[in-house]
Amino acid sequence: MRHGSAAAKIEATPKPTLKGKSAIVTGSTSGIGLAIARAFAAQGMNVLINGLGEQTHIKRHRMAIEKDFGVNTAYSGADMSRADEISAMVEHARSAFGEVDILVNNAGIQHVAPIETFPADKWDAIIAINLSAAFHAMRAVVPGMKKRKWGRIINIASAHALVASPFKSAYVASKHGILGLTKAVALETAEHGITVNAICPGYVLTPLVEKQIPETAKARGISEEEVVRDVLLHAQPTHQFVTADQIGALAVFLCSDSGAQITGAAIPIEGGWTAQ
Ligand code: NAD
Repeated sequence: MRHGSAAAKIEATPKPTLKGKSAIVTGSTSGIGLAIARAFAAQGMNVLINGLGEQTHIKRHRMAIEKDFGVNTAYSGADMSRADEISAMVEHARSAFGEVDILVNNAGIQHVAPIETFPADKWDAIIAINLSAAFHAMRAVVPGMKKRKWGRIINIASAHALVASPFKSAYVASKHGILGLTKAVALETAEHGITVNAICPGYVLTPLVEKQIPETAKARGISEEEVVRDVLLHAQPTHQFVTADQIGALAVFLCSDSGAQITGAAIPIEGGWTAQ
């Protein structure tokens, strides 16, 4: 290759590394969030863990991350239904790591019931945790990202951001909502080195899904085995669950330099569900 050619220049440009960057992953005491936190730590990122649960379990997860990957962790027990606690979580990450380079809005809850008996308090909680929390967290981290001209925001949406299922009115509304929010903030930040994307997973066998199996059985009047076979895995043409680690790997890719031109996107990882 001739010196001075555009290709030579591109090859000579060192690729920015993720090592030493700092991330907040909400809802990372369990399931998908925990897998993303571990995948980030494996790249050398410092991670703030957030979520509910037994303090001893959370401490064990943090110690395992620090020992396995040699990074620093912090923990915030901020309740994602409360704007003031979300601001405090972002401040906590700043004081622990200096900056927030990456934000993953992952905390989420589900409730399955027909619309006419859907509890109003469950609607409020699902909208607050699955949707409004992402708004509060993004508005707190974007100014710093703009200043440093680099940032990655990943919203863990769902296949239910793209299509609906019965008996999940609040969840489907929150996930369609977060996709709109993702696109709006992506456009606002596109010229600032910041990308904002939504990952749209199909079914992953986490506590969130395990809990909805009996609820779905009740709502549909079928057995729990039928829920797994005829509802969950039936939705996905591969007839396999997505794994949390596969979502972690996708999140790492979006943070990498290779993902720099992906923004405002809804990225399905759902065994072909929404291709049907
Ligand atoms: P999970 O129940 O294993 O984990 C949820 C996490 O959110 C936990 O850490 C929990 O403590 C935290 N959380 C819940 N309420 C909170 C609150 N008020 N404040 C702070 N943290 C709170 O569930 P998961 O399956 O890992 O789900 C993670 C995300 O992935 C959710 O947004 C969910 O909607 C989405 N998702 C899951 C699936 C799936 O099949 N499991 C599919 C698509 C999308």
